[in-house]
Amino acid sequence: MISTVKIVFFGTSGSWPSVERGLPSIGLQVDRDVILFDIGEGTQRQIMQTNISFMKIAKIFITHFHGDHFLGLAGLIQTMVLNGRTDPLEIYGPRDTVNQVSNFLQLGYYSLSFNIRIRDLGEDEEIDFGDYTIKTLKTVHPVTNLAYCFKEKDRKRISQELMEKFSLNSREVDKILRNGSLEKNGKTITIDDISDGIRVGRKIVYTGDTSPCDCMVEFSRNANVLIHDSTVDSSLEEKANEYGHSSSRQAAEIAKRANVRYLFLTHISPRYRMNDVKILEEEAKSIFHNTMVAKDLMEFTVTI
Ligand SMILES: [Zn+2]
Ligand SMILES: [Zn+2]
Repeated sequence: MISTVKIVFFGTSGSWPSVERGLPSIGLQVDRDVILFDIGEGTQRQIMQTNISFMKIAKIFITHFHGDHFLGLAGLIQTMVLNGRTDPLEIYGPRDTVNQVSNFLQLGYYSLSFNIRIRDLGEDEEIDFGDYTIKTLKTVHPVTNLAYCFKEKDRKRISQELMEKFSLNSREVDKILRNGSLEKNGKTITIDDISDGIRVGRKIVYTGDTSPCDCMVEFSRNANVLIHDSTVDSSLEEKANEYGHSSSRQAAEIAKRANVRYLFLTHISPRYRMNDVKILEEEAKSIFHNTMVAKDLMEFTVTI
């Protein structure tokens, strides 16, 4: 059972960094575990500016092998070694990830102090991690880019009223959630006895790099948060689409059609200084109100 889901934007630039923005990397804190989506150059230093420990990173998902999205990997791994990591690390990405990452791990002289499990993912694959799943979708980009969907599993909603009816305290409810039932006063109480419906799990989608794509509407349907490529404003969208990127206007159209709750614009071209991003925000907000331009080190707690 998951309690906290928090998004931390470590890097929000695209292609190359700017003074104000680092290269793409988004952290998802799921209780004590940290999942990283992309790891652009400089990500480890960004992480160190937050209260998230880089040693707690359990899984890294790479969207694609353009340098801005993965070149921070070797540095982070070598720092983990120097800090005596022994916990295994899982690395996932599109086809060729095993090959690309294995080559990358050969850089420099050091010995790994922990196991790294690397896995190529399919273009429409779902991995089950117990309390949540991660699903992939191939987007529209010159090289294979996988968008990722984090989905907390739906579960039965516990009714306060029914808890009182059976005189249960929260510790007893936890036991029922864990074991399926509990004996109390000679009676067996099950989850169904204290549930009054379904609690829909949180859903977060990160596109990586993509031009606007109808498939993203279905993939991010009713998500709590959509984090979408928004490299430029609409005056430059034709060129951006040619290179496999989206404008803020196009990201907002997708968010609206998918009926998501919040849209975060990211992969902001370094041509925009901090004060220039207003245009991206205004364009998107005129279509989809709940839009924010992501900033480095911005945090967002995702509630049910
Ligand atoms: Zn990129
Ligand atoms: Zn790219």
